[in-house]
Amino acid sequence: MVIHKNLEVIQKCQELISKWLTDIGLELKPEKTRIAHTLIPEQSEDGIAGFDFLGYNIRQYPVGRHKSATNSQGRKLGFVTLIKPSKHTCKKHQQSIKTAIKKHKHSSQIDLINELNPIIRGWCNYFSFSDAKVTRTFSKQDKLIFQKLRALGVYRFKKKGLKGFYQEYYRKIGKRNWVFATKGANPLILLTHDEFSCSSNKLVKVRGDKSPYDGDLVYWSTRMGRNPELPNNKALLLKKQKGKCNWCGLYFRNGDLLEKDHILATALGGKNDFSNYQLLHGGKCHNEKTAIDLTKIRDKRASDFIKELFLEWSKVKFTWINDIPVLVES
Ligand SMILES: [Zn+2]
Repeated sequence: MVIHKNLEVIQKCQELISKWLTDIGLELKPEKTRIAHTLIPEQSEDGIAGFDFLGYNIRQYPVGRHKSATNSQGRKLGFVTLIKPSKHTCKKHQQSIKTAIKKHKHSSQIDLINELNPIIRGWCNYFSFSDAKVTRTFSKQDKLIFQKLRALGVYRFKKKGLKGFYQEYYRKIGKRNWVFATKGANPLILLTHDEFSCSSNKLVKVRGDKSPYDGDLVYWSTRMGRNPELPNNKALLLKKQKGKCNWCGLYFRNGDLLEKDHILATALGGKNDFSNYQLLHGGKCHNEKTAIDLTKIRDKRASDFIKELFLEWSKVKFTWINDIPVLVES
């Protein structure tokens, strides 16, 4: 994702990124590449302002001076930036709600709530760094769930009708009417999206000069707070090799298998220390290197054997009879 105010800069970036991707064995797919203006739809190549990224939709909206964002000098910009769950993500979310309700078509209310609550909680937590509340995306999800539950009611209460369904499954709890909850003193309550808080101002920006491909995994481990697969010296090797595999010369990508290899195999006298280690792609690259090592080891063993043989023969007295060495009795 590249953001810049000049279209020419963006186009230049597209060129450079294409080249960079070719270097790591990938290509920029035209159908997955899109140039869009964040505020003015007419300036996007497909007439839609803003863009989707990791399930978020990021877009700017023109507003009057009272709601407008201000620049660092305090001047009104005439628009606000809103980050909200993308349409596609909302659709997928409602699809999983639908599947869960369908699965519990005949279950108890407790089972249904226990299935739905983690889905709602997880989704809301993911979007806690967004403007989902301001844009009413959260409350819209609740409305859609209500409709789906009502459909379930129609199905279950064919005779008694919806009124019977509401009486059976909905309560007034505190100030809230229409809470989907179990009966009794300690009711199990269906979570609502709207009760989760969120704010896009909490978002922490990635330092502009960092890329997950530059080999500085120490930075990324710190940022992500975890890096289970990367022992310390692998991270150091990655740094030494500037993020590239020593065999094929291509950059390691996220998710690639990184394997430690002895530059000079131990069987050939290589040492077990950092200077003799290198990182290779697991699979093809490491296998090719190992195959060559094995040939060298075999050659070395064969020549070692011949040397040993000569050494043994030099210890004894022999004479050549018809091209065959024959021991001389001493
Ligand atoms: Zn490789």
